[in-house]
Amino acid sequence: MATDQALADEMVDAVRSWVDRDVIPNVAEFEQADEFPQAMFNQMCDFGLFGSTIPEEYGGLGLDITTYTRIIEELSRGFMSLAGLLNTHKIGATMIGRFGTDQQRQRFLPRMCDGSFRAAFSLSEPDAGSDTGALRCRAERDGDEWVVNGTKMWVTNGMRSSLVMLLARTPDDRITCFLVEKEPGESFEGITVSRKIDKLGYRGLETVEMSYVDHRVPHANVLGGDEGIGHGREYALSALELGRINVAARAVGVAQAAFDAAMAYSQQRETFGRPIFEHQAIQFKLAEMATKLQAARLMTYDAARRADAGQRVDMEAGMAKLFASEAAFEIASDALRIHGGNGYTTEFPVERYFRDTPLMIVGEGTSEIQKLVIARKLLERFPVE
Ligand SMILES: Cc1cc2nc3c(=O)[nH]c(=O)nc-3n(C[C@H](O)[C@H](O)[C@H](O)COP(=O)(O)OP(=O)(O)OC[C@H]3O[C@@H](n4cnc5c(N)ncnc54)[C@H](O)[C@@H]3O)c2cc1C
Repeated sequence: MATDQALADEMVDAVRSWVDRDVIPNVAEFEQADEFPQAMFNQMCDFGLFGSTIPEEYGGLGLDITTYTRIIEELSRGFMSLAGLLNTHKIGATMIGRFGTDQQRQRFLPRMCDGSFRAAFSLSEPDAGSDTGALRCRAERDGDEWVVNGTKMWVTNGMRSSLVMLLARTPDDRITCFLVEKEPGESFEGITVSRKIDKLGYRGLETVEMSYVDHRVPHANVLGGDEGIGHGREYALSALELGRINVAARAVGVAQAAFDAAMAYSQQRETFGRPIFEHQAIQFKLAEMATKLQAARLMTYDAARRADAGQRVDMEAGMAKLFASEAAFEIASDALRIHGGNGYTTEFPVERYFRDTPLMIVGEGTSEIQKLVIARKLLERFPVE
């Protein structure tokens, strides 16, 4: 589904101007204090970003993946955590839109458009991250309900969310996705936020451990209804395919911010009687940074456009995420070097870019896992004869 180009450009421009005007000058105070950026969140709601990819028939903006990708890039250029506020919600909306029953789409998607009913995505556990098949959280059927017990790890937006896309093991050892409705907060009917994880970067929004003790979920909240039982893992992996394009877009946004900062600094800072940009060693660094940034952006947009054209993009999304996240880490590291001692202080934003970029390497499948996905797809495309 393609978005009207003028509408897409207008939306991206509005977000870009807001990021320049209101996010970049204020981000340090929220980030360093690890404080929820309430005013920024409110503005994101006003833009309609929480419903940006939800079809118009359910009250969303119905933007295509390419436009959403450009928005994520702009948000991340200002404050990567803002993209995190959206991403788990987008994964949830995608899963419900693709795999929910008609009744589930009607019941959940309209509520998910304005930011008041946000979704978290809960696949990972203490002993199941890359190895998604190892998860242990269990759901047992009891009449018209399911009883959930277990511990989930790394639940971004888990505390403030009203809906958790919960992956749990159901009888026959299958994995099923449950739409867990709850009140935002630290505890709700057998669900407890058992730990708030203190992070290197990606601050200002919560990532938590959540424990379930005899929490009851109505059978009507099995994603996909009866036919969805046992298919949760494939539903999640399908939505993560798009999630990886978003992670790549975040990497591009942070890398752009790091490059911009390094470029400006290199033209102001003088050593040995001239701006450091005139030293060839610095020029080469900036040339390499700009080249990696350009390649990362093109790969990300290419994956998004293919996804908009209805293609399955496991390989392209994996490649974009792998390349863009590693490139962003290198670009942030070079930006820090170009800033010399100043790069190591909280007075310049490059130290934040340096702390934020590793998340893109780990989240939604590490670089090693992306390589496994890419290699698997290569074998499909080039079967052994
Ligand atoms: C800040 C943050 C937010 C997160 N938010 C969420 C969220 O909202 N929802 C959610 O469900 N999860 C979330 N995650 C979890 C994230 O997806 C996992 O951390 C990630 O998938 C890696 O899993 P792991 O941490 O268990 O590492 P492990 O799987 O233990 O991996 C450890 C190392 O071994 C490597 N490795 C593992 N298996 C292989 C293999 N077969 N071959 C080669 N190398 C391998 C990995 O690449 C990695 O380098 C979040 C993580 C972080 C850090």
